[in-house]
Amino acid sequence: MSDLNQAKDSLPFTQWAGAELKVDLSAIAENYRRLQKKAPSARCAAVVKADGYNLGMIPIAKRLKEVGCSDFFVAYLDEGLALRSILSDNDRIYILHGLFPGSESICANANLIPILNSLEQIDNWIRFCNQDQTRHAAGVQLDSGMSRFGIGPDEIELLCRIDWKSFDLALIMSHLACADIPNHPLNFKQLQQFRLMKQMLPPAPASLSASSGIFLGKDWHFDLIRPGAALYGINPTPQKPNPMQNVVTLLGKVIQIRKIKPDIAVGYGASFVSKKPMRLALVSVGYADGFLRSFGNKAFAKSQKYPEIPLPIIGRISMDSLCIDISGLSEKALHTSDFVELIGPNCPIDHIAATGGTIGYEMLTALGNRYQRIYY
Ligand SMILES: *Cc1c(COP(=O)(O)O)cnc(C)c1O
Repeated sequence: MSDLNQAKDSLPFTQWAGAELKVDLSAIAENYRRLQKKAPSARCAAVVKADGYNLGMIPIAKRLKEVGCSDFFVAYLDEGLALRSILSDNDRIYILHGLFPGSESICANANLIPILNSLEQIDNWIRFCNQDQTRHAAGVQLDSGMSRFGIGPDEIELLCRIDWKSFDLALIMSHLACADIPNHPLNFKQLQQFRLMKQMLPPAPASLSASSGIFLGKDWHFDLIRPGAALYGINPTPQKPNPMQNVVTLLGKVIQIRKIKPDIAVGYGASFVSKKPMRLALVSVGYADGFLRSFGNKAFAKSQKYPEIPLPIIGRISMDSLCIDISGLSEKALHTSDFVELIGPNCPIDHIAATGGTIGYEMLTALGNRYQRIYY
């Protein structure tokens, strides 16, 4: 623990918090190294949008800078401004959502690189650069086949009319729709489309792959890779064992233990009814903490001392609590005020997410603000 814990401000909860969210910054650094090694011919950036997938953008960016990361992606201008204050002027910060009309000078003054997502945004940037008589840096996003951000194949002819000399083209990028499914035909189609469209622009560093794309192979690496999720321990290769190190551990405090007889209801809606005598533990984490309601009767917890024994979550998840079946543990194994693991090395985030029909990304970004966040 260190002053990094102050980084996440407006946190009223400290030693009495019902749960601890541990963020292993060295594991993030190690994951950065692994990803960089996987794509040796490219530079490795870090995507730290949504407050570093809700884990704390500032402490994460500081740690990644120590291991050589110099390119950071955020979604919004405000995120970029907050990040700029802790980085040096040589570090590049890209704004994925691009340029809102009127935000040009704020972007340029803070040395942020907007990703221009439409012809209109390119026009606005050029007008601004001409007025300012400076070739400010910006990236351009091409839509290679997912119909989200960027200039689409139908507009590509119009790119020939653009006066590319008016600004510094710092990045040409696109994004893959199905990179987590290695043999999906769209991966090859998007690669081909990206190469084709890129040729219509002046030469500039190129970037196509986020976490999963890195594992598709060298052809998808180009000059800059842009992982987010994999840095935070989410498995970028869902069909294979996770090549990343665990980053997040969520520990919930046991606030009450009780025994119940057969034929007793547990939780709202009586969605669980005991068939035999059971011992239950009430844990102070609920859906207000981002532990999704869809995990009720599906996910499991673990005692860190006995990680081989799953402790099923039974009944519905309440706003501030959930109930686990601890009948599989001896009476001495778990007491009130002990912690149980809900996410972590013994409860892999991808696995827990799947039980509730979601993905690790959504789980991380749903995590609430009531935890004591501990960086180590
Ligand atoms: C969020 C995002 C990323 C990071 O994606 P991960 O799958 O988390 O690695 C990269 N590029 C773009 C355009 C994004 O929106």
